[in-house]
Amino acid sequence: MTTQIVWFKRDLRWHDHAPLTAAAARGSVLALYVIEPELWHQPDSSSRHWQFIRESLIDLSQALQRLGGTFVLQSGSVTQILQRLRDHYGIFELHSHEETGNAWTYARDLQVAEWCAENRIVWHEYPSNGVVRRLGNRDRWAALRNATMAKPQVKLSVRISFAPVPLALSAESIPEIADPRFGSSTPRVQRGGRTEGLKVLASFLDDRSERYMTTISKPGVSARHCSRLSAHIAYGTLSAREIEHALRRRIDHLEGIGDHSSLRWARQLQAFGSRLAWRCHFVQKLEQQPAIETHCMHSAFEGMREDDFRQDWFEAWCEGQTGYPLVDACMRSLHANGWITFRMRAMLVAFASYHLWLDWRRTAPFMARLFTDYEPGIHYSQFQMQSGVTGINAIRIYNPVKQSCDHDPEGRFIRRYLPELRDVPEDYIHEPWLMPTPPKSYPAPLVEHEAAARLAKQRMAAYRRGEDFKAEAAKVYRKLGSRNRPSEGRRKKPTEPLPQLTLDL
Ligand SMILES: Cc1cc2nc3c(=O)[nH]c(=O)nc-3n(C[C@H](O)[C@H](O)[C@H](O)COP(=O)(O)OP(=O)(O)OC[C@H]3O[C@@H](n4cnc5c(N)ncnc54)[C@H](O)[C@@H]3O)c2cc1C
Repeated sequence: MTTQIVWFKRDLRWHDHAPLTAAAARGSVLALYVIEPELWHQPDSSSRHWQFIRESLIDLSQALQRLGGTFVLQSGSVTQILQRLRDHYGIFELHSHEETGNAWTYARDLQVAEWCAENRIVWHEYPSNGVVRRLGNRDRWAALRNATMAKPQVKLSVRISFAPVPLALSAESIPEIADPRFGSSTPRVQRGGRTEGLKVLASFLDDRSERYMTTISKPGVSARHCSRLSAHIAYGTLSAREIEHALRRRIDHLEGIGDHSSLRWARQLQAFGSRLAWRCHFVQKLEQQPAIETHCMHSAFEGMREDDFRQDWFEAWCEGQTGYPLVDACMRSLHANGWITFRMRAMLVAFASYHLWLDWRRTAPFMARLFTDYEPGIHYSQFQMQSGVTGINAIRIYNPVKQSCDHDPEGRFIRRYLPELRDVPEDYIHEPWLMPTPPKSYPAPLVEHEAAARLAKQRMAAYRRGEDFKAEAAKVYRKLGSRNRPSEGRRKKPTEPLPQLTLDL
């Protein structure tokens, strides 16, 4: 019988795993994970990701042991490892999920496809979450995605027969956190693994989500009331579909109770459900246009910021030393925890892109390394949106002082992450430079907000003029834009690329 190799990538689970289930039905299975040294040299990789993956691999290998099998971990290039397997087993079949990753993994998958073709190996690839490969028309995407989510979860219907592991492979043990191949290790990372993911999901649906929407923009408490499922979805310890199904059951339950507070809670969960759909929508953009990792969605913005890059401002932003307390506290909390809520991510990027006029291609890999949940499809789409280079989204320039007053009014979060401001009175915590004697250990603001925002607005407007701009924006919309917009009465027509700048001064 032909050996069936299941290549685990960003899908570190055994449940709702189409490649594993299909492989088990066709023959004896070898479960494979490859540590690819070159991948870990890419500018968007970090030890923080490794820590999460490592715990997920430990959990997965324990689960496979319970199913009577083993998990084979190898280091090297995937084609090298496949060649060794080919030498041992002869012809085999390869199964994996489709991956919508960065440019490096895209190129690697092309090499694997070529190797498979040359070696007469059939490679079965299975759709990943709600992403549709070779999608012709974006209009059909939401229906296709929803149909995938509505399907039953894939269950292992047969007992897996595991293939004996070839001695020549000499299975490696899972490397330590501090292994230098993954870069220098970072503190406190969200725990990985499916077992942990299921606990996080249950605690969110049954308890933490009650205050989801009221706290989602707050830099401190959102860490408790947001789902915190992003890294689990990014590394596939849970499938998007199983989360959607659990969510639907919970909403039905709350709606069944029907009292005011249950219905209110159900609405919070509906908002969470929309975000799960956004996730697929953003990953779909990268799937359709891999170039958005390195090129502006709207080409008019190429060359807009590159030559003005200021290394000293970039370093100050990376280190949380811009002189704006909320911006700096968010950045330092990211260094410490590897997660921050959506609005604060948006503010950090908008501040870098508008106030400091830093090119998003320099800031995006830095933040990718900090986020435990780094997901290229969401990450690059969001960086482009928050930097105003898509041509189809409103320009949002955040006022960092207003954000600070709105979302951390007493400055608790700021004081937690900026010890040098601990003793600053509440009246000055958002603008310490106004104190009669500002703390010496904290920098003055790199730029003055109103002047920097005005300049950014003028610069953006100069690039958003003319019929050619509009024509290309309409093309970007047709290819990548969300079709899920409010009716035309409330928003512009899809072919009109959002003419005015929305300034949050
Ligand atoms: C500049 C920038 C970069 C980002 N990079 C990433 C990234 O690399 N990986 C990542 O998972 N998210 C990214 N996000 C989106 C969002 O901030 C995170 O998904 C969210 O904060 C994760 O926390 P959570 O799981 O508790 O989210 P919840 O609010 O509980 O949302 C549930 C899930 O929905 C998805 N989601 C939530 N918000 C968004 C959004 N705005 N767009 C797309 N999907 C969303 C995520 O999968 C998330 O796990 C980025 C946002 C910005 C502004």
